[in-house]
Amino acid sequence: MAGFQSNLWAPWRMEYIRSLQDETGTHGCFFCAYWADPAHDDTHLVVWREQHCFVLMNRFPYTSGHLLIATSAHEGDPLRLANEHNASLTRTTWQAVALLRRTLQPEGFNVGSNLGLCAGAGVPDHYHCHVVPRWAGDTNYMSVLGNVRVIPEGLNALYTQLVQNAVEMGLRDRPAASR
Ligand SMILES: [Zn+2]
Repeated sequence: MAGFQSNLWAPWRMEYIRSLQDETGTHGCFFCAYWADPAHDDTHLVVWREQHCFVLMNRFPYTSGHLLIATSAHEGDPLRLANEHNASLTRTTWQAVALLRRTLQPEGFNVGSNLGLCAGAGVPDHYHCHVVPRWAGDTNYMSVLGNVRVIPEGLNALYTQLVQNAVEMGLRDRPAASR
């Protein structure tokens, strides 16, 4: 599975992001690339969009249902974000918590951000917030699973469920019938 992950997913994504960087100036940043490409929200696992920010599933989840919330601005310092972006990010983060409560019934959450590479930020130049649902006894999740952090089938099934619940909560429109 680890080979499957690195061979199939990562190169595809990096190639895609590089092409977008060349064409649209998205800084080689997948948040910017995804934000600029709403037609592919389903393949990018974007759960829903607000005017200034969006919610997407982390392909390298710490636990099942690990969500990322990012604004449309390519800015690593949250203090430099426009007020409406910060406000939208905060409100959307709590809506993401509500969506996960409804979908996965977690027993708790970790909510927050990693600022800087040394703090674990995967994309330090584009501020984003993590919402990680937690269950008692899940602390060894990563070490148990080792390198197998991505299970595409599982991600896609959960994505469908999250989208469905987001529709029911009035967070987004129903996805197009063709998808
Ligand atoms: Zn960016």
